[in-house]
Amino acid sequence: MNSSNSSEKINNDSIDDIGNRSSVTIIGLGPMGKAMVSAFLNRGYEVTVWNRTSSKAIELVTKGAIRASSVNEALASNELVILSLTDYDAMYAIFESVSDELSGKVIVNLSSDTPEKVREAAKWLSERGAWQLTGGVLASPSEIGNRESITLYSGPSDIFDAHRKTLEVLTGTDYKGKDPGLAMLYYQIQMDVFWTAMLSYLHAVSVAQANGITAKQFLPYVSEILYTMPKLLEFYSPRIDTGTYHGDVEKLAMGLASIEHVVHTSKEAGVDSSLPAAVQDVFKRGIALGRADESFISLIEIFKQSGAQP
Ligand code: NDP
Repeated sequence: MNSSNSSEKINNDSIDDIGNRSSVTIIGLGPMGKAMVSAFLNRGYEVTVWNRTSSKAIELVTKGAIRASSVNEALASNELVILSLTDYDAMYAIFESVSDELSGKVIVNLSSDTPEKVREAAKWLSERGAWQLTGGVLASPSEIGNRESITLYSGPSDIFDAHRKTLEVLTGTDYKGKDPGLAMLYYQIQMDVFWTAMLSYLHAVSVAQANGITAKQFLPYVSEILYTMPKLLEFYSPRIDTGTYHGDVEKLAMGLASIEHVVHTSKEAGVDSSLPAAVQDVFKRGIALGRADESFISLIEIFKQSGAQP
């Protein structure tokens, strides 16, 4: 059975029925899974939990969760099963021995992985009669239960619609489409920006600290530069999409001179300069391609070329 055929078999009545159930199974009790269990309990849901390390369920049981004694029992308790695991390999590790019990289940996988692994998992589940909704949680555990946080979802739209209300106990939802990999792709490209930006922040703080400036003293200045970013992105994104690289302001040659100063300031401070040096290297490659007079956004072509290399 594949997921599209399966979803066609669910008529509107049974979708409503599933959507209205106020019980759910959660597998995976790391910081995120625990926060999700608490959010459902706070909203009066009956929550069945299972975790490889069963002791992690103790505290949740005292709050009202039901600890399943086996994965089979956890699956049997509810049609809606939420996974919060380190990655998708963990899902196979848990489900492989019980794959006969997956038929008819809606598996909402909120674990992180690559879009391709997510698509493979959706196929694997569909071959066992289950549906997968992929989720990318754009929130920390402390933000779970807050509708202002967002989780990106993709997968069969009727299955998502049937469970949206329940999933919105955790966070607000943003449905990206039926391709199961899509939510994960959006999630990973946001993480791409997040981690690179956070590490550049840490690098700048180390240069500040090496000069006797604390992270707190630096805070208003770093906040100011980040505050300008949305406007810059709004300006540049249509130009990036149309490949309009003529350099009016931020010419690539000027950018190289600027990042060189950053690298030297870092070295003067005795701080590891590998991060700005990597940025400097990309600028140099752009110059080598004859793009010195173009806007720095033409550096996107460097990334595209590198991606095409074996
Ligand atoms: P953890 O890595 O702390 O918890 C992972 C869970 O996965 C644990 O329950 C662990 O079980 C289980 N697990 C890992 N490997 C296996 C395996 N081979 N077999 C069975 N169970 C396994 O992660 P978090 O709770 O922090 O996060 C969960 C997911 O949410 C991750 O994919 C993460 O990227 C994502 N996320 C996390 C955020 C955060 O701030 N924490 C923010 C946004 C997304 P055991 O307890 O037995 O080790």
